[in-house]
Amino acid sequence: MGKLDGKVVLITGAASGIGRASAIRMALEGAAVMCADIDLNGARDTAIRIAQDGSNAAASLELDVAIEADVKAALQTTVDELGGLNVIFNNAGIGGNEAGWDKTIMVNLTGVYHGLFHGAPFLAARGGGSIINTASVAGLVGLTGIQTGEPAELQPGAGAYVAAKHGVTGLTRQYAVTFALQGVRVNAIAPGYIETPMTAPVRETEEVERYIESLHPMGRIGQPEEIAAAAVFLASDDSSFITGIVLPVDGGYTAR
Ligand code: NAP
Repeated sequence: MGKLDGKVVLITGAASGIGRASAIRMALEGAAVMCADIDLNGARDTAIRIAQDGSNAAASLELDVAIEADVKAALQTTVDELGGLNVIFNNAGIGGNEAGWDKTIMVNLTGVYHGLFHGAPFLAARGGGSIINTASVAGLVGLTGIQTGEPAELQPGAGAYVAAKHGVTGLTRQYAVTFALQGVRVNAIAPGYIETPMTAPVRETEEVERYIESLHPMGRIGQPEEIAAAAVFLASDDSSFITGIVLPVDGGYTAR
């Protein structure tokens, strides 16, 4: 018996990294999974891998979380194609400051807001459910940063990632409180550095990789499957009395 038997999950950012690993793991736990991403081919690949792994239903759709209408439409599309909706994983995001202030806030914060603003009442109207947001250790503390030679405060959009992720932790608490009596639980996961395409640039040089590892008391970066395991817990009825938390999955990064 799987931990998510009978549940239908919508995951954004499901073409890659944490989203893909979570889609695969949630399907193994019995969920039917809608894989949504701005990268439709990647989302399709995730759904195909799920179908090849076993008998679970999986589908894919193209969506840009920055576009409110896309996120709203994805909720009903999931119900139409997979027969229900119990869990929304607002996971899509972009990395670092290279995207600049406006785009980082739009995707990493406003994108999650779209999922909460439309998703929470949608689940409430269907009897309840669980929403999970991907925050970051950067949603709990400031980042020490990697020395690039250019002062961080002079980089365009410096701090946007941290501001967006702190916003996600705030939205998580607010929506948890607002929707608690309607049976919608809202929690966030705060990953440390995880080995995904997003962090490939900081893992390019040995020296920087060792530095990043040293920020985690466990002495390593994490794997996307370790975030997926936490997402399964927050999606499942095992976390039935948990709402409004921001769960660090970070090898101790925020413990010191
Ligand atoms: P990833 O491997 O780059 O996957 C992110 C996925 O989201 C990609 O498929 C990406 O498509 C997609 N995406 C980007 N913009 C989108 C948009 N506007 N609408 C829909 N999909 C979009 O990154 P990841 O590491 O798995 O990151 C997933 C989440 O974890 C993000 O919210 C990130 O901030 C968070 N996080 C990651 C780490 C880490 O160390 N990896 C740590 C803490 C938090 P494209 O590739 O086409 O852009």
